[in-house]
Amino acid sequence: MKRPILATLTVASLTAVSLTGVSATGAQAASPAATTVAMAALSSATTTADVSQLRQEFNDYIAGLDLDADTRAAAEAAGASDDALVAAAAKSLAQVKAALTDAGVDNEWTSGAINPGDYECSTTDFREWARGQIAQIDPASWNWYNNGFLGLSPDLLVQYWTLMKTPTNPHDTALGPNGANTNELARTFVNLQRFWDIDSSNVGLVSLDGKVLGPDAAADRQFVYNGLGKVSALAAIFLQIGVEGGLRDGRLNGFPGGVDNPMFSVNAFAIDPAHAGDSKEMLETLGITRRVAMGQGILQMWNELGLGRVGGRAVLAHEFGHQVQYSDNLFETDITDEAEATRRTELMADAFATYFTVHKRGESLNKAYTLQDLQTFYNVGDCSFSNPGHHGTPNQRYRSSDWAVDLVKGADDQGHILPSMTVADAFEKVLPEIVAPDAH
Ligand SMILES: [Zn+2]
Repeated sequence: MKRPILATLTVASLTAVSLTGVSATGAQAASPAATTVAMAALSSATTTADVSQLRQEFNDYIAGLDLDADTRAAAEAAGASDDALVAAAAKSLAQVKAALTDAGVDNEWTSGAINPGDYECSTTDFREWARGQIAQIDPASWNWYNNGFLGLSPDLLVQYWTLMKTPTNPHDTALGPNGANTNELARTFVNLQRFWDIDSSNVGLVSLDGKVLGPDAAADRQFVYNGLGKVSALAAIFLQIGVEGGLRDGRLNGFPGGVDNPMFSVNAFAIDPAHAGDSKEMLETLGITRRVAMGQGILQMWNELGLGRVGGRAVLAHEFGHQVQYSDNLFETDITDEAEATRRTELMADAFATYFTVHKRGESLNKAYTLQDLQTFYNVGDCSFSNPGHHGTPNQRYRSSDWAVDLVKGADDQGHILPSMTVADAFEKVLPEIVAPDAH
């Protein structure tokens, strides 16, 4: 049985580790389901007394806003009781997060059926690096960034801004610390468009970064609130209270480097609104176009881990691999387990990426850099087996890339680029070997 396309589109981002879901002390990596965020905020960090206080804040805030009659009525109803406020926030959050999930930007928890004991898994440099970064952030600031006002968080603002801003010419898209990776990644992006046999003329390249939280980005934030307001007036108000309130309280100062802190952007993703299931209309209302987003944080990380010359290109090629999958309808599958289905498309994107980076007519990586490409994918592997965002273990991601190296090197004609569907079909055949249990 074919799975509905909507359910398969849970993840087209780089890794299952949504580090924005990590608390300052715990290092459990995952982003909880939308509703549990509000509930968790209510049950742990937020006491009943806090909710009353938040409600006061909410009512004071809407009193000062210029709202149309319908929005005013909805806002007043939400502010009428603690329960009403929590329910309205949870509903808004679910709505806003559903679009990110449908667009392939976000992951959610469900139960899965893969046994962790069967697979070798250990921490990687990537995880260690991220934990080190989080440890340097003021816990109150980190909590604000991830939870905002009853779950409507600055993290969501950053993601929506990345989706809503207009892509520029790739050569004008500043990437990497002080723009150091701009030219290299612009070249790689244009190369990817030429390399793969899909129509990618409508795919843009944008930077994912924390600059929208800066003091000079008020207009950009307002652009997001206005856009979201067209879809859900309450969601926009909740988001605005959380973000602007925290900025006013100086929460940004708790991040070393301010808006340039890498933890705002340790990710990369690929979206195609035409393949966003139920959220297609919402994304189109927001003016969101097809694009690949490259995180500044992840580029900084590769530099600090010594993979700076290859890591960014490998990530970009992986994301572009998802655009190939959108065009070729490769998210459709007979696999019914969500974690397994995501693992399939993620490992395939790793294979597409390495096929491109190693190929003579792609990035033509030499032997040493090919090894770094394999290390890149090993590093971003995860062991969140039951997470529908599971991308494959470090070993599985390494093996998928290694398979693609062999596919390139074993070809009779080194100048020939295989059709994307041929690469995908060949990958499907070896996938069972790639994911076979490897623990002894
Ligand atoms: Zn991916």
